[in-house]
Amino acid sequence: MVPRTEAVYLDDATLRTLTTEVLSFQSITSLSEEEKGLAKNVPAEDNAITMRQTIFYAQGGGQPSDTGAIGPVDQDPTFEVSAVRKTPDGRFLHFGKFLDVTSSFVVGQSVVQKVDDSKRNYHSRLHTAGHIVGLAMQLLMPEKKKVKANHFPREASMEYEGLLYNEHKPVIQEKVDELVRLDLPILISWLQGGARVGDGEGAEEGRSHDGRTRIASIGGLDHNPCGGTHVARTSLVGSVVIRKISRQKGISRVSYDVSPGIEA
Ligand SMILES: [Zn+2]
Repeated sequence: MVPRTEAVYLDDATLRTLTTEVLSFQSITSLSEEEKGLAKNVPAEDNAITMRQTIFYAQGGGQPSDTGAIGPVDQDPTFEVSAVRKTPDGRFLHFGKFLDVTSSFVVGQSVVQKVDDSKRNYHSRLHTAGHIVGLAMQLLMPEKKKVKANHFPREASMEYEGLLYNEHKPVIQEKVDELVRLDLPILISWLQGGARVGDGEGAEEGRSHDGRTRIASIGGLDHNPCGGTHVARTSLVGSVVIRKISRQKGISRVSYDVSPGIEA
């Protein structure tokens, strides 16, 4: 049985390269049915690698997975990582393909992981912007309960119980701009035990197997259980643009984006 993967990015989200050890390497077709379910959008001819540690974020908590590459130590990367998913027992499956079909990995081999830096930064900015919108809403309308968060490019939004209208848009925008301008630090801490401090969007990803809960806080003003990746300070998000406010079945959606986009 392959042990759970140590998710190094939970403690250090700045790493973009890491040397670690291959624990398993197999074709998608040889995965268990449950694991194949995690590989739904992955080409059937791809492979899945697990390693002792990872700096790749696995899709979850409303944040898309990292992409990047893996290769032998002191060589160019040989394997392109297109998607990363976490199994219920805590193994990170890195899906992708070899650049050269004659390449392979063996169990126990040392490999170097490289995470796509521009995509990670963009995802971290989008995710952190969600926290900033959340904090703005908490400060402006503390009675509104958050029900959902999505930090995917072009879909990023926070959803709340109750009704919000277009006239709220400039008010939220102003508070969000203020929080960005204040350049507040994003603080990561771990709470012992099954903490109940709200239901953050990444709460499940932030719960460790030893019962600790990862908490993300903006300037100590809020505390959200969260397993996502963040930028270090609110100003590093760039600017947050409140795009629109929409309503459906008593739930209001605050759609947002960050500027500049991924090209920057
Ligand atoms: Zn977060």
